Amino acid sequence: MALIKLYDGTKEQKNGEILEIALVELAKFQVVRVTPSPGSIDISNYKLIQHFAAESTHPRRKQVHIKRLLDQIISLNEVRNNPQRQNLILLEQDLYADGLNWCFGGYQHYLGKDFVTISTARIQDEAHLFHIFAHELGHMYGAAFRGRSNTREELGFHCLNDLCVMQQQLSVKESASYAHRRLKSKAPTYCHQCQDDLRI
Ligand SMILES: [Zn+2]
Ligand SMILES: [Zn+2]
Repeated sequence: MALIKLYDGTKEQKNGEILEIALVELAKFQVVRVTPSPGSIDISNYKLIQHFAAESTHPRRKQVHIKRLLDQIISLNEVRNNPQRQNLILLEQDLYADGLNWCFGGYQHYLGKDFVTISTARIQDEAHLFHIFAHELGHMYGAAFRGRSNTREELGFHCLNDLCVMQQQLSVKESASYAHRRLKSKAPTYCHQCQDDLRI
C-alpha cells in the first residue's frame, strides 16, 4: 500500500474534497492512503507550505520555482528519513520550472523521493482541478510510461488515447476544455492502457 503525505498549502477545503474524488478513481487500481485526510484542517503544514513557497518565489516573476520548493520540503527530516513515502503538495501560488513560463505542477522523482506538486493558480473550475489531480497522481503510479504504445514524450510521457486523463495539453484553455469534454463523455478517467499501467 502506498502512503502519501499531504502538504496542503491552500485555504479552500473544497480542494481536498476534489482530491478525494481523484483518489477514489486511483483506488480502483492502486491501494493508496493519504494522511492527513484531504480537506481536513492542518494549520501547521499550511503555514509550512506558505513559508516554503515564499522562500522559493522568484522576486521578479512572483512565481514559485518547483525544484526550489522541493529542496525545502526535502530538508524536512520526516521526508528525508522515509524512503518509502510519497508526497503531495498543494499550493495557491503560480509555479514554474526551468525552461517553462509556468506549470500546473508535476510529478518529480527527486533525490530518491516521489513528489506530486499542484498549484491551483490557473485552475478554472472543479472539473479542471479533478483532471489535474488525476493526471499528476497517474504519473506518480506509472501511467503512460516510457516506451509504451500510444504515448508521446512531451514534458514527460503522455497517453495519446482519446479522452484519457493522461493526455497532455499545453495551455490552460485546452486543459480546461479537455477536462469538460471528458466529463461530458463520461469516459473512464484512465484509458484501458493507463489502467493496466496503474495496476503494475
Ligand atoms: Zn503530465
Ligand atoms: Zn491513457
